[in-house]
Amino acid sequence: MAKQLPAILGGSPVRPTGVPCWPQEDPLVRAALLKMIESSDWGRYHGPHIPKLCQRLADYHQVEHVLPCSSGTAAVELALRGVGVAAGDEVILAGYDFKANFQNILRLQATPVLIDIDPESWQMDVTRLEASVSTRTRAILISHLHGGVVDAPLARQCADRHGIPLIEDACQNPGAMLHGRVSGTWGDVGVLSFGGSKLLTAGRGGAVITARSDVAERIKRYIHRGNEAYPLSEMQAAILVPQLEQLDDKNDLRRHSVSRLHDGLQGLEGLTLIQIPTECVKPTYYKVGFRYAAEKFAGLPRDRFAESLRAEGIAFDAGFRGLHLIHGSRRFRAADPLSEVTCADAKVLTLHHPILLEEGSAIEDVIVAVHKIREWSTEITARLGPATRDVEQSLSRL
Ligand SMILES: *Cc1c(COP(=O)(O)O)cnc(C)c1O
Repeated sequence: MAKQLPAILGGSPVRPTGVPCWPQEDPLVRAALLKMIESSDWGRYHGPHIPKLCQRLADYHQVEHVLPCSSGTAAVELALRGVGVAAGDEVILAGYDFKANFQNILRLQATPVLIDIDPESWQMDVTRLEASVSTRTRAILISHLHGGVVDAPLARQCADRHGIPLIEDACQNPGAMLHGRVSGTWGDVGVLSFGGSKLLTAGRGGAVITARSDVAERIKRYIHRGNEAYPLSEMQAAILVPQLEQLDDKNDLRRHSVSRLHDGLQGLEGLTLIQIPTECVKPTYYKVGFRYAAEKFAGLPRDRFAESLRAEGIAFDAGFRGLHLIHGSRRFRAADPLSEVTCADAKVLTLHHPILLEEGSAIEDVIVAVHKIREWSTEITARLGPATRDVEQSLSRL
Protein backbone atom coordinates (compact mmCIF):
# COMPACT_ATOMS: atom_id res chain seq x y z
CA MET A 1 0.00 0.00 0.00
CA ALA A 2 1.29 3.46 -0.86
CA LYS A 3 2.38 5.65 2.03
CA GLN A 4 -0.30 8.16 3.07
CA LEU A 5 0.82 11.58 1.84
CA PRO A 6 1.30 13.95 4.81
CA ALA A 7 -1.00 16.94 5.06
CA ILE A 8 1.90 19.38 4.77
CA LEU A 9 2.55 17.98 1.27
CA GLY A 10 -1.12 18.06 0.31
CA GLY A 11 -2.38 14.77 1.78
CA SER A 12 -5.24 14.32 4.25
CA PRO A 13 -4.54 14.99 7.91
CA VAL A 14 -4.62 12.25 10.55
CA ARG A 15 -7.07 14.42 12.51
CA PRO A 16 -9.35 16.15 10.01
CA THR A 17 -11.14 17.94 12.85
CA GLY A 18 -7.88 19.74 13.59
CA VAL A 19 -6.54 20.82 16.93
CA PRO A 20 -9.18 20.53 19.68
CA CYS A 21 -10.36 23.89 20.91
CA TRP A 22 -9.72 25.25 24.36
CA PRO A 23 -11.45 25.87 26.67
CA GLN A 24 -13.66 22.83 26.25
CA GLU A 25 -17.42 23.05 26.50
CA ASP A 26 -18.14 22.72 30.23
CA PRO A 27 -21.72 22.55 31.57
CA LEU A 28 -20.61 23.83 34.97
CA VAL A 29 -18.99 26.89 33.44
CA ARG A 30 -22.08 27.45 31.34
CA ALA A 31 -24.28 27.25 34.43
CA ALA A 32 -22.01 29.65 36.28
CA LEU A 33 -22.19 32.14 33.42
CA LEU A 34 -25.99 31.88 33.18
CA LYS A 35 -26.24 32.52 36.88
CA MET A 36 -24.03 35.57 36.47
CA ILE A 37 -26.44 36.96 33.88
CA GLU A 38 -29.55 36.25 35.92
CA SER A 39 -28.10 37.85 39.04
CA SER A 40 -26.39 40.77 37.26
CA ASP A 41 -23.26 39.74 39.15
CA TRP A 42 -21.37 39.88 35.86
CA GLY A 43 -21.23 43.64 35.99
CA ARG A 44 -20.33 44.20 39.63
CA TYR A 45 -17.04 45.41 41.01
CA HIS A 46 -17.50 43.36 44.16
CA GLY A 47 -19.52 40.28 44.90
CA PRO A 48 -19.32 36.77 46.30
CA HIS A 49 -17.22 35.17 43.57
CA ILE A 50 -13.74 36.56 44.21
CA PRO A 51 -13.90 35.73 47.94
CA LYS A 52 -15.19 32.26 47.09
CA LEU A 53 -12.42 31.62 44.56
CA CYS A 54 -9.78 32.86 46.99
CA GLN A 55 -11.12 30.63 49.74
CA ARG A 56 -11.16 27.60 47.42
CA LEU A 57 -7.62 28.29 46.22
CA ALA A 58 -6.45 28.79 49.79
CA ASP A 59 -8.01 25.48 50.88
CA TYR A 60 -6.71 23.64 47.85
CA HIS A 61 -3.15 24.85 48.37
CA GLN A 62 -3.37 25.05 52.14
CA VAL A 63 -2.03 28.56 52.23
CA GLU A 64 -3.42 31.49 54.12
CA HIS A 65 -3.20 34.22 51.50
CA VAL A 66 -4.48 34.28 47.94
CA LEU A 67 -4.18 37.49 45.97
CA PRO A 68 -6.04 37.35 42.66
CA CYS A 69 -4.72 39.55 39.88
CA SER A 70 -5.00 40.24 36.17
CA SER A 71 -2.49 37.72 34.77
CA GLY A 72 0.23 35.24 35.59
CA THR A 73 2.71 37.79 34.32
CA ALA A 74 1.36 40.36 36.79
CA ALA A 75 1.45 37.69 39.50
CA VAL A 76 5.18 37.11 38.89
CA GLU A 77 5.79 40.84 39.16
CA LEU A 78 3.79 40.98 42.39
CA ALA A 79 5.65 37.99 43.78
CA LEU A 80 8.98 39.68 43.06
CA ARG A 81 7.77 42.89 44.68
CA GLY A 82 6.26 40.93 47.54
CA VAL A 83 9.60 39.46 48.55
CA GLY A 84 11.19 42.88 48.22
CA VAL A 85 13.11 42.69 44.95
CA ALA A 86 14.28 46.19 44.05
CA ALA A 87 16.77 48.05 41.86
CA GLY A 88 20.26 46.60 41.99
CA ASP A 89 19.19 43.18 43.30
CA GLU A 90 19.80 39.88 41.55
CA VAL A 91 17.19 37.21 40.90
CA ILE A 92 18.30 33.71 39.93
CA LEU A 93 16.26 31.84 37.31
CA ALA A 94 16.88 29.17 34.69
CA GLY A 95 18.23 30.27 31.32
CA TYR A 96 15.31 28.35 29.84
CA ASP A 97 12.15 30.01 31.17
CA PHE A 98 9.07 32.00 30.24
CA LYS A 99 10.18 35.24 28.60
CA ALA A 100 8.04 37.47 30.79
CA ASN A 101 9.70 36.16 33.95
CA PHE A 102 13.01 37.59 32.72
CA GLN A 103 11.35 40.85 31.67
CA ASN A 104 9.62 41.22 35.02
CA ILE A 105 12.98 41.12 36.78
CA LEU A 106 14.35 43.79 34.44
CA ARG A 107 11.23 45.87 35.02
CA LEU A 108 12.14 46.07 38.70
CA GLN A 109 15.63 47.19 37.66
CA ALA A 110 17.04 44.01 39.08
CA THR A 111 19.44 41.70 37.24
CA PRO A 112 18.40 38.23 36.06
CA VAL A 113 21.08 35.66 36.90
CA LEU A 114 20.76 32.73 34.54
CA ILE A 115 21.70 29.19 35.46
CA ASP A 116 21.71 26.04 33.39
CA ILE A 117 19.08 23.33 33.26
CA ASP A 118 19.46 19.69 34.15
CA PRO A 119 20.45 17.57 31.12
CA GLU A 120 17.90 14.87 31.97
CA SER A 121 14.79 16.80 32.96
CA TRP A 122 15.51 20.10 31.22
CA GLN A 123 14.28 21.90 34.33
CA MET A 124 16.45 24.29 36.38
CA ASP A 125 19.54 22.45 37.61
CA VAL A 126 19.13 23.35 41.26
CA THR A 127 22.54 21.92 42.14
CA ARG A 128 23.91 25.03 40.43
CA LEU A 129 22.03 27.42 42.71
CA GLU A 130 24.60 27.42 45.48
CA ALA A 131 27.41 28.63 43.22
CA SER A 132 25.33 31.41 41.69
CA VAL A 133 24.21 33.06 44.93
CA SER A 134 25.88 36.42 45.54
CA THR A 135 25.53 39.12 48.18
CA ARG A 136 23.02 40.80 45.85
CA THR A 137 20.75 37.76 45.42
CA ARG A 138 17.26 38.78 46.51
CA ALA A 139 15.17 35.90 45.19
CA ILE A 140 15.28 32.55 43.42
CA LEU A 141 12.59 31.95 40.81
CA ILE A 142 11.80 28.37 39.82
CA SER A 143 9.35 27.47 37.03
CA HIS A 144 8.00 23.99 36.39
CA LEU A 145 7.87 23.68 32.63
CA HIS A 146 6.39 21.41 29.98
CA GLY A 147 5.20 18.76 32.42
CA GLY A 148 8.54 18.58 34.17
CA VAL A 149 9.15 19.56 37.74
CA VAL A 150 12.02 21.45 39.29
CA ASP A 151 13.58 19.77 42.32
CA ALA A 152 11.72 22.15 44.63
CA PRO A 153 12.80 20.57 47.94
CA LEU A 154 16.46 21.07 47.03
CA ALA A 155 15.83 24.63 45.85
CA ARG A 156 14.01 25.23 49.15
CA GLN A 157 17.04 24.00 51.10
CA CYS A 158 19.41 26.29 49.25
CA ALA A 159 17.07 29.25 49.67
CA ASP A 160 16.75 28.58 53.41
CA ARG A 161 20.49 28.17 53.88
CA HIS A 162 21.02 31.65 52.48
CA GLY A 163 17.83 33.24 53.78
CA ILE A 164 16.72 34.02 50.23
CA PRO A 165 13.02 33.88 49.32
CA LEU A 166 11.91 31.28 46.79
CA ILE A 167 9.29 32.15 44.15
CA GLU A 168 7.59 29.18 42.50
CA ASP A 169 5.93 29.63 39.12
CA ALA A 170 3.20 26.98 38.92
CA CYS A 171 1.48 28.50 35.88
CA GLN A 172 2.11 25.37 33.84
CA ASN A 173 1.26 22.75 36.44
CA PRO A 174 -1.57 23.79 38.77
CA GLY A 175 -2.55 20.91 41.00
CA ALA A 176 0.62 18.89 40.41
CA MET A 177 1.91 17.19 43.55
CA LEU A 178 5.61 17.44 44.26
CA HIS A 179 6.98 15.46 47.17
CA GLY A 180 3.75 15.71 49.14
CA ARG A 181 2.97 19.35 48.42
CA VAL A 182 0.89 21.04 45.74
CA SER A 183 2.89 22.87 43.10
CA GLY A 184 3.28 26.52 44.06
CA THR A 185 3.54 25.86 47.79
CA TRP A 186 7.24 25.03 47.98
CA GLY A 187 7.98 28.68 47.40
CA ASP A 188 7.63 31.54 49.87
CA VAL A 189 5.34 32.72 47.10
CA GLY A 190 3.60 30.75 44.37
CA VAL A 191 2.28 32.03 41.08
CA LEU A 192 -0.76 30.82 39.12
CA SER A 193 -2.03 31.84 35.68
CA PHE A 194 -5.61 31.81 34.43
CA GLY A 195 -4.61 32.79 30.88
CA GLY A 196 -6.64 31.66 27.89
CA SER A 197 -4.53 28.62 27.04
CA LYS A 198 -3.92 27.47 30.60
CA LEU A 199 -5.41 24.52 32.51
CA LEU A 200 -7.50 26.82 34.69
CA THR A 201 -8.71 29.54 32.39
CA ALA A 202 -10.67 32.74 32.52
CA GLY A 203 -9.16 34.08 29.33
CA ARG A 204 -6.92 36.24 31.48
CA GLY A 205 -6.08 36.31 35.13
CA GLY A 206 -3.68 35.03 37.74
CA ALA A 207 -3.04 34.75 41.45
CA VAL A 208 -0.28 34.91 44.00
CA ILE A 209 -0.43 32.42 46.85
CA THR A 210 1.62 32.65 50.01
CA ALA A 211 1.71 31.58 53.62
CA ARG A 212 3.70 34.70 54.53
CA SER A 213 1.62 37.58 55.88
CA ASP A 214 4.43 40.09 55.36
CA VAL A 215 4.63 39.22 51.67
CA ALA A 216 0.85 39.38 51.27
CA GLU A 217 0.75 42.77 52.99
CA ARG A 218 3.47 44.21 50.79
CA ILE A 219 1.64 43.06 47.67
CA LYS A 220 -1.68 44.45 48.90
CA ARG A 221 -0.11 47.82 49.58
CA TYR A 222 1.23 47.84 46.06
CA ILE A 223 -1.98 46.88 44.25
CA HIS A 224 -4.48 48.85 46.33
CA ARG A 225 -4.32 52.47 45.28
CA GLY A 226 -7.74 53.52 46.46
CA ASN A 227 -8.72 51.29 43.60
CA GLU A 228 -7.25 47.99 42.51
CA ALA A 229 -4.49 48.22 39.93
CA TYR A 230 -4.42 44.60 38.70
CA PRO A 231 -7.92 43.25 39.30
CA LEU A 232 -9.47 39.90 38.51
CA SER A 233 -13.21 40.29 37.89
CA GLU A 234 -16.19 38.64 39.55
CA MET A 235 -17.02 37.12 36.18
CA GLN A 236 -13.59 35.52 35.88
CA ALA A 237 -13.72 34.22 39.43
CA ALA A 238 -17.16 32.69 38.87
CA ILE A 239 -15.98 30.55 35.97
CA LEU A 240 -12.77 29.52 37.71
CA VAL A 241 -14.49 27.99 40.74
CA PRO A 242 -16.08 25.07 38.85
CA GLN A 243 -12.82 24.49 36.98
CA LEU A 244 -10.87 24.26 40.20
CA GLU A 245 -13.37 21.67 41.44
CA GLN A 246 -12.61 19.52 38.41
CA LEU A 247 -8.87 20.11 38.31
CA ASP A 248 -7.76 16.92 40.07
CA ASP A 249 -9.94 14.68 37.90
CA LYS A 250 -8.76 16.35 34.72
CA ASN A 251 -5.16 16.15 35.83
CA ASP A 252 -5.65 12.41 36.33
CA LEU A 253 -6.90 12.11 32.75
CA ARG A 254 -3.96 14.16 31.49
CA ARG A 255 -1.48 11.94 33.29
CA HIS A 256 -3.17 8.86 31.91
CA SER A 257 -2.97 10.20 28.35
CA VAL A 258 0.68 11.13 28.72
CA SER A 259 1.50 7.70 30.04
CA ARG A 260 -0.20 6.16 26.97
CA LEU A 261 1.73 8.55 24.78
CA HIS A 262 4.94 7.58 26.50
CA ASP A 263 4.23 3.89 25.99
CA GLY A 264 3.20 4.41 22.39
CA LEU A 265 6.37 6.28 21.53
CA GLN A 266 8.67 3.76 23.22
CA GLY A 267 11.27 2.62 20.79
CA LEU A 268 10.75 5.55 18.47
CA GLU A 269 14.14 7.18 18.44
CA GLY A 270 14.44 10.92 18.19
CA LEU A 271 11.32 11.93 20.13
CA THR A 272 11.36 11.36 23.87
CA LEU A 273 9.41 12.90 26.70
CA ILE A 274 11.58 15.26 28.72
CA GLN A 275 10.42 13.85 32.00
CA ILE A 276 8.48 10.79 32.92
CA PRO A 277 6.65 10.74 36.22
CA THR A 278 8.59 9.52 39.22
CA GLU A 279 7.30 8.20 42.51
CA CYS A 280 7.15 11.37 44.53
CA VAL A 281 5.72 13.46 41.76
CA LYS A 282 2.26 13.64 40.24
CA PRO A 283 2.85 15.97 37.32
CA THR A 284 0.34 17.72 35.16
CA TYR A 285 0.59 18.98 31.65
CA TYR A 286 0.00 22.38 30.13
CA LYS A 287 2.47 21.38 27.46
CA VAL A 288 4.03 17.98 27.11
CA GLY A 289 7.73 18.57 26.57
CA PHE A 290 9.78 16.44 24.20
CA ARG A 291 13.40 16.24 23.21
CA TYR A 292 13.69 16.15 19.42
CA ALA A 293 16.68 14.78 17.57
CA ALA A 294 16.53 15.85 13.92
CA GLU A 295 19.21 13.33 12.96
CA LYS A 296 16.80 10.53 13.79
CA PHE A 297 14.26 12.08 11.42
CA ALA A 298 16.56 12.17 8.39
CA GLY A 299 17.58 15.71 9.28
CA LEU A 300 14.04 17.11 9.29
CA PRO A 301 14.45 20.39 11.20
CA ARG A 302 12.60 20.66 14.50
CA ASP A 303 10.36 23.54 13.46
CA ARG A 304 9.40 21.87 10.20
CA PHE A 305 8.56 18.72 12.14
CA ALA A 306 6.24 20.75 14.40
CA GLU A 307 4.65 22.42 11.40
CA SER A 308 4.11 19.05 9.75
CA LEU A 309 2.37 17.72 12.87
CA ARG A 310 0.19 20.81 13.10
CA ALA A 311 -0.88 20.17 9.52
CA GLU A 312 -1.96 16.70 10.70
CA GLY A 313 -4.17 18.39 13.32
CA ILE A 314 -1.80 17.95 16.26
CA ALA A 315 -0.56 20.98 18.19
CA PHE A 316 3.21 20.56 18.34
CA ASP A 317 5.34 23.66 18.72
CA ALA A 318 8.92 24.64 19.36
CA GLY A 319 9.66 25.37 23.03
CA PHE A 320 10.98 28.61 24.53
CA ARG A 321 14.07 30.41 23.32
CA GLY A 322 17.10 30.32 25.58
CA LEU A 323 17.02 33.63 27.45
CA HIS A 324 20.73 34.23 26.88
CA LEU A 325 20.21 33.81 23.13
CA ILE A 326 17.56 36.50 22.77
CA HIS A 327 18.81 39.16 25.18
CA GLY A 328 21.94 41.26 25.07
CA SER A 329 24.58 40.03 27.49
CA ARG A 330 24.53 43.33 29.40
CA ARG A 331 21.00 42.64 30.59
CA PHE A 332 21.79 39.53 32.65
CA ARG A 333 24.55 37.71 34.44
CA ALA A 334 25.23 34.16 33.24
CA ALA A 335 26.29 32.09 36.22
CA ASP A 336 27.55 29.28 33.98
CA PRO A 337 27.96 28.52 30.26
CA LEU A 338 24.27 27.52 29.85
CA SER A 339 25.15 24.79 27.40
CA GLU A 340 22.07 22.68 28.17
CA VAL A 341 19.87 25.73 27.69
CA THR A 342 21.42 26.22 24.26
CA CYS A 343 20.65 22.60 23.51
CA ALA A 344 17.04 22.88 24.75
CA ASP A 345 16.58 26.05 22.73
CA ALA A 346 17.19 24.01 19.59
CA LYS A 347 15.55 20.73 20.60
CA VAL A 348 12.48 21.23 22.77
CA LEU A 349 9.17 20.36 21.21
CA THR A 350 5.89 20.79 23.04
CA LEU A 351 2.48 19.27 22.57
CA HIS A 352 -0.39 21.50 23.69
CA HIS A 353 -2.60 19.97 26.38
CA PRO A 354 -6.22 19.96 25.04
CA ILE A 355 -5.69 16.70 23.13
CA LEU A 356 -4.93 14.96 26.44
CA LEU A 357 -8.61 15.28 27.42
CA GLU A 358 -9.98 14.11 24.06
CA GLU A 359 -11.88 10.86 24.03
CA GLY A 360 -11.40 8.02 21.60
CA SER A 361 -8.30 7.59 19.52
CA ALA A 362 -6.68 11.00 20.06
CA ILE A 363 -3.51 9.67 21.64
CA GLU A 364 -3.17 6.95 19.01
CA ASP A 365 -3.60 9.68 16.39
CA VAL A 366 -0.58 11.51 17.80
CA ILE A 367 1.49 8.35 17.57
CA VAL A 368 0.28 7.56 14.05
CA ALA A 369 1.00 11.12 12.92
CA VAL A 370 4.51 11.09 14.35
CA HIS A 371 5.25 7.85 12.50
CA LYS A 372 3.75 9.26 9.34
CA ILE A 373 5.97 12.34 9.41
CA ARG A 374 8.97 10.20 10.18
CA GLU A 375 8.34 8.12 7.04
CA TRP A 376 8.18 11.27 4.98
CA SER A 377 10.90 13.25 6.69
CA THR A 378 13.35 13.07 3.80
CA GLU A 379 10.76 14.25 1.29
CA ILE A 380 9.48 17.04 3.54
CA THR A 381 12.98 18.40 4.11
CA ALA A 382 13.79 18.15 0.41
CA ARG A 383 10.56 19.80 -0.73
CA LEU A 384 10.22 22.51 1.92
CA GLY A 385 13.64 23.06 3.47
CA PRO A 386 13.97 24.43 6.99
CA ALA A 387 11.07 26.20 8.72
CA THR A 388 11.29 29.93 9.42
CA ARG A 389 12.52 29.76 12.97
CA ASP A 390 15.30 27.33 12.06
CA VAL A 391 16.54 29.84 9.51
CA GLU A 392 16.33 32.70 11.98
CA GLN A 393 18.18 30.69 14.55
CA SER A 394 21.01 29.69 12.30
CA LEU A 395 21.34 33.31 11.18
CA SER A 396 21.36 34.59 14.74
CA ARG A 397 24.22 32.24 15.55
CA LEU A 398 26.45 33.30 12.67
C1 LIG B 1 1.64 31.28 31.06
C2 LIG B 1 2.79 31.44 31.97
C3 LIG B 1 2.91 32.56 32.81
C4 LIG B 1 1.93 33.70 32.90
O1 LIG B 1 1.17 33.90 31.80
P1 LIG B 1 -0.07 34.90 31.67
O2 LIG B 1 -0.48 34.68 30.27
O3 LIG B 1 0.47 36.27 31.91
O4 LIG B 1 -1.13 34.55 32.65
C5 LIG B 1 4.01 32.62 33.63
N1 LIG B 1 4.93 31.64 33.65
C6 LIG B 1 4.83 30.55 32.87
C7 LIG B 1 5.86 29.49 32.97
C8 LIG B 1 3.77 30.42 31.99
O5 LIG B 1 3.69 29.33 31.21
